[in-house]
Amino acid sequence: MKITNVRAVQPVAEKSPPDWRTTLGQILVAVDTDVGITGYGVGGGGLAGIHVIKTVLRDFLQDRDPEDVESLWELMYQTTLPYGQKGLAIMALSGIDLALWDIRGKAAKLPLAELLGGKVGQPMPTYITVWDTIHAALDRGFRSFKLHVENRDDGDKVAAVASTVEEARREVGDECDIAIDAWMRWDLPTTIDVARAIEPFRVTWIEEPLPADDLDGYAILATESPVPIAGGEHEFTAAAFRPLVERRLHTILQPDVCWCGGLTQLIEIYKMAQGAGLRVCPHRGSEVWSLHAIAALDNDPLPESGRPWMTWVGGQPPIEDGYVTLTDRIGFGVEIDEDSLEILYS
Ligand SMILES: [Mg+2]
Repeated sequence: MKITNVRAVQPVAEKSPPDWRTTLGQILVAVDTDVGITGYGVGGGGLAGIHVIKTVLRDFLQDRDPEDVESLWELMYQTTLPYGQKGLAIMALSGIDLALWDIRGKAAKLPLAELLGGKVGQPMPTYITVWDTIHAALDRGFRSFKLHVENRDDGDKVAAVASTVEEARREVGDECDIAIDAWMRWDLPTTIDVARAIEPFRVTWIEEPLPADDLDGYAILATESPVPIAGGEHEFTAAAFRPLVERRLHTILQPDVCWCGGLTQLIEIYKMAQGAGLRVCPHRGSEVWSLHAIAALDNDPLPESGRPWMTWVGGQPPIEDGYVTLTDRIGFGVEIDEDSLEILYS
């Protein structure tokens, strides 16, 4: 089998928040082959990611064997090394890697979960990320929640977050799980104060309180915070996750498979974390791109709810009563209606 073309576009995502998720938003990558199989993946980086694919990686991949995924990953990484390593170039590469895995699954006529040694058809509990109130999510059957609290600040940030958590705990009762996300917006003293203030409310984790590259800050939190620390959503490649694992900087690791280097890297991160007894909860893990790895590799799966604005990826299994179940469709099982896509950038 040979690669005949690599295509990338950024479809319109109407309800996406007005920030980097629109201007440097999610891109659809399609890899065509000479046997009629097209693999699909989602990467990031918007128009910049598309530029990397069109001007560098497309020609580079032309005529190569798409099933040689791990070797191609290494070659793409080396090719983009001077301006890559992290960020936009790896986000673009992620979309290609996922498309190559889709081809691998379609060529084997298996769902990727099965190709990775797991099963489909088993309901996995999910958690839902909420930006406002959890009331609607509770009504939809979710029993595990994550609250975005990075903007809670009425002059006393610690008190504002603590009262948000206290209120949420009262609303969901004692049986449900609550985590919080600070999206890299706090500093070390604030995080420690928040952790101490919310400890009585049994919070599962505090996510990304510090900037992703503040490893020394995370090292202090790892010993000082009474609440487990989660992170990794804005980290790239398994190599960069290694110090997070070896120094045990996060109790829960949250790679985003569409950004961190694709499934090839997510598998490596899973192996590394499990070897160290750490938990992996992939960022937006209910989307099919992570879900096959979770089904195959995770003994205690807890995929995050997907993003509601990713409407152009068809074939996503729905979350019902808080559970998500993979079907037996081959590859990632996605259906992309390329003809009806509304394109923002190409
Ligand atoms: Mg997050």
